[in-house]
Amino acid sequence: RAKSLGGGQHHLFNDQLAAEHHQKVQTEKDLTDAVQRGEFLLVYQPQLSLVTGEMPCAEALLRWNHPTDGLRMPHSFIPIAERTGLIADIGDWVVAEVASTMGSWLREGISRRISFNVSPRQLERFDFFDRLRQLFAEQQVPLSLIELEFTESAAMEASDAVIGEIAALRRDGATICIDDFGTGYSNLARLRSMPLDRVKLDQTLIADIETCDRARVIVQAVIHLIRGVGSQVVAESVETIPQAELLRAMGCDIVQGYVFSKAMVEDEFLDWTANAERGRRSVA
Ligand code: C2E
Ligand code: MG
Ligand code: MG
Ligand code: MG
Repeated sequence: RAKSLGGGQHHLFNDQLAAEHHQKVQTEKDLTDAVQRGEFLLVYQPQLSLVTGEMPCAEALLRWNHPTDGLRMPHSFIPIAERTGLIADIGDWVVAEVASTMGSWLREGISRRISFNVSPRQLERFDFFDRLRQLFAEQQVPLSLIELEFTESAAMEASDAVIGEIAALRRDGATICIDDFGTGYSNLARLRSMPLDRVKLDQTLIADIETCDRARVIVQAVIHLIRGVGSQVVAESVETIPQAELLRAMGCDIVQGYVFSKAMVEDEFLDWTANAERGRRSVA
C-alpha cells in the first residue's frame, strides 16, 4: 500500500511516523523526572447533584507544566506513562498532593469532597492502600471526604486481594467510583459484587443523547442497571442544559461537565465554590 502512494508521499508518511515516534520517546524521557522537578499540578472540576443542587464532590485532574511545551493535557502523556509504568510514581504524587491540599483546606475550615483517578498500575504496588491511608491520616483528612475512581477495566481485572482492600477502604468511609463506564467490558456478575457507590458514564455514551434515539435507550438502560444495584449514576462531559435535563429525567443523580464548570486551578476552584455556596444561601 505504501508503495502505491508514490515515492514522495511514502517519505512524507515515514517522516510523520518518525516525528510521532520521536515525540513519544521525548515525552517518555521528560516524564521520567517530571515528578522530582515538581512539574505536575492538579485542577479541580465540580460535580452538581441534580437532586439537591449541591456540589457533592469535585474531581482532581492532572496537568503537566512542561518546561518547553507549556501546559500539557493528560491525553498527551498518560497513555505513555501507563505503558512505561511511570504512572505509578505520578499517581503516588497525585495521592500525596490531594492529601496535603485537602489537609491545608481543612486547617482553614474548608471541607470539600475530592475524587481522584487511580491507575491499574498503582494497584500493582502491594502497599498502595497502606500508603494512601497513611497520607490522609497524616493530614487528618477523614476518608469520608475522598472518592477513588477506578476505570471499568481496572475494576474488572482487580485481584480478590485488591477488591478486599477497596472494600475495606469503603467500610472506612471512602466513596468508590467506577470511571468511564461503557467503554470497557463489564462482567455483570462481578459488577454485582463490587464494593461500589457510584458509576460514571463515559462521555461517548452521553455525547449524542439529544439527537440519537438509540443513544438515549442505551443510557436509560444503563442508568436502570446501575441504580438497580444500588449505586449512584454520575454523567461526565455533560456540555448542554438539554443534556442535563434529559439525564435528570432518566434518573441520573450527578453531572460533571462544561455545562456546569471546567476544571479550575486551586485558587479559582476555592473562589468558585465559595461563590456557589453564597448563591445557594441567598436563593434559599
Ligand atoms: P476522566 O477521569 O474520565 O476525566 C474526565 C475528562 O473529561 C477530563 O479530561 C475533563 O477535563 C474532561 N471533561 C470534563 N467536562 C467535559 C465536557 O463537558 N466536555 C468535554 N469534552 N470534556 C470534559 P482531562 O482532564 O483531559 O483528563 C483526561 C483523562 O486523563 C481522565 O479522564 C483520566 O482518565 C486521565 N487522568 C486525569 N488525571 C489523572 C490522574 O491523576 N491519574 C490518572 N491515572 N489518570 C488521570
Ligand atoms: Mg475520572
Ligand atoms: Mg471518566
Ligand atoms: Mg472519560
